[in-house]
Amino acid sequence: MIPVFDPVIGEEEIQAVVSALRRGEISGSFGSAIPEFERSFAAYLGCKHAVAVNSGTAALHLAVGALGLKPGEEILVSASTNIASALAAYHQGLITVPVDSEKQTWNLDLDRIESLIGPKTRAIMPVHLYGHPVDMDRLMQIAQKHKLAVIEDCAESHGATVRGRMTGTFGEFGCFSFYANKVITTGEGGMVTTNDDKLAEKIRLLRNLAFIEPRFFHREAGYNFRMPGLQAAMGVVQVGKIEKIIADKRRVAKFYNERLQRIPGLQLPAELPWARNVYWMYAIVLKPDFGLSRNELMQRLKKLGVDTRTFFCPMNQQPVLREQAGYREVDCPVADALWENGLYLPSGPTLTKEQIDQIGQRIEEARSPAFGKING
Ligand SMILES: *Cc1c(COP(=O)(O)O)cnc(C)c1O
Repeated sequence: MIPVFDPVIGEEEIQAVVSALRRGEISGSFGSAIPEFERSFAAYLGCKHAVAVNSGTAALHLAVGALGLKPGEEILVSASTNIASALAAYHQGLITVPVDSEKQTWNLDLDRIESLIGPKTRAIMPVHLYGHPVDMDRLMQIAQKHKLAVIEDCAESHGATVRGRMTGTFGEFGCFSFYANKVITTGEGGMVTTNDDKLAEKIRLLRNLAFIEPRFFHREAGYNFRMPGLQAAMGVVQVGKIEKIIADKRRVAKFYNERLQRIPGLQLPAELPWARNVYWMYAIVLKPDFGLSRNELMQRLKKLGVDTRTFFCPMNQQPVLREQAGYREVDCPVADALWENGLYLPSGPTLTKEQIDQIGQRIEEARSPAFGKING
């Protein structure tokens, strides 16, 4: 089976973790690895502050928490995303308003935002889905016009750029994940980025139980979302490799684009002229003339040794959000269709051209009328 993802852990990562262990940097409150990881990540992005935390979800919770919004207020969130984006709002008593996707990049449709802004709307959370950035120049103009805060969910977009500027440097906050399958990884982990000194301080405070002076006296409800030093040590090595990893992912995407454009009925991922797509996962959408349902294709590919995953179930279809008091009904027909017809293919950075040709061949086999006779 060709897996959807295969983490690449080098000898350098192993050495860095062992060395942090030998220095006793095992927790999240001391040692050199955490500040080093934060500095190198901020330098890579070209932003002022980066605060390491223990997951992408934790990063989103802190970013939303730091805005200090009131229960019942609303955040516009990309409909097609990981539930973690919406849960960051949910756990603060805030209402998620899903924004439908646009058809080309599958990111939130900027043309729909203004009609969704209501008297309780306070923030927008755009998600840079599968590594293609949202047009943040345009989104920031809309946000500024309506005085909305912006939290970028960059869990899938490390290194993606908009007119040369990195995602995670536009909004009040960028939130990154370093889960095993993300562009770079620390096993589990996350980062909050910001250019605002006060907001950075607030995130650091909330990350560590909001300790102030005198010690053990607390004015605010903080969290323990600290990243352990061990993982930060791995992160430092991974940041050093990020451009190589992105080059590999872009090479994989190029091989796929070349091979799959010969197959009718497939919508391939876009890269708009102003964007750098990092192709976190190589995703495709089946058009009606493909002749097979998405689920049938996935089942057939599994039989042929190719692992795949569906797109996200959109936020407008999530019972946990719909049952929340104050939920606003919003139709998201494009995100609904992506959930039904979208899937992503094996996307590990070490995939070879031969493997990708083979996956293309398997898709053709799965689609051919002969498949049922041979494999049925
Ligand atoms: C992975 C992911 C998250 C959550 O990150 P974790 O580190 O797994 O908590 C949030 N948002 C999106 C879009 C993701 O892909």
